[in-house]
Amino acid sequence: MQVQERLAMLCAKTSNMEVSTHGQGGLTPYDISSALSGTPRGPYLLALVKYAGDETALDELIEHINAMVEKTAEERKWKLRKREVLGKISQLALIESEVVPQKCGQCKGRAWVIYRKLKKPCMACGGTGNHSTSARSKARFLGIDWRTYRNTWSHRLDFIRGTLSQWEIDVSMKLVKELRRC
Ligand SMILES: [Zn+2]
Repeated sequence: MQVQERLAMLCAKTSNMEVSTHGQGGLTPYDISSALSGTPRGPYLLALVKYAGDETALDELIEHINAMVEKTAEERKWKLRKREVLGKISQLALIESEVVPQKCGQCKGRAWVIYRKLKKPCMACGGTGNHSTSARSKARFLGIDWRTYRNTWSHRLDFIRGTLSQWEIDVSMKLVKELRRC
């Protein structure tokens, strides 16, 4: 069973009170903050946004992810020709970790773009508005050559996503453990 499903079940059992439920796990910001006291800020914010749908925590979560990416780049001595790719890779990791809706980065989910004052179908997502998982579209999103993406940045993205997955595993385990007591 997926952690989220387990959480949703736990929550249905434990918070049948008047509290409204949002987010994928059906948890409220109150559930998260009471169960996750003492958790590092980044993972805590991720749980708030992903499991309780608390979008007010999103900006601060992005700051924490950016800081984690900067630190990773330094520790792993990533060679960077364009430093702004780091900010983009944070965004991509956030989209792929399903913390934010998986919308196309080019058209922001509208499926069209304005090109020479005309409304045109968005090429990046093939006019669907959804985030594309192809290497070429990720390279385009990052503003780099797709070979550079394939040879270098795809591994870096995997590493960042791995860190976010670890954050998620840590908070999920703590949530399951804490909420079971209710
Ligand atoms: Zn698009």
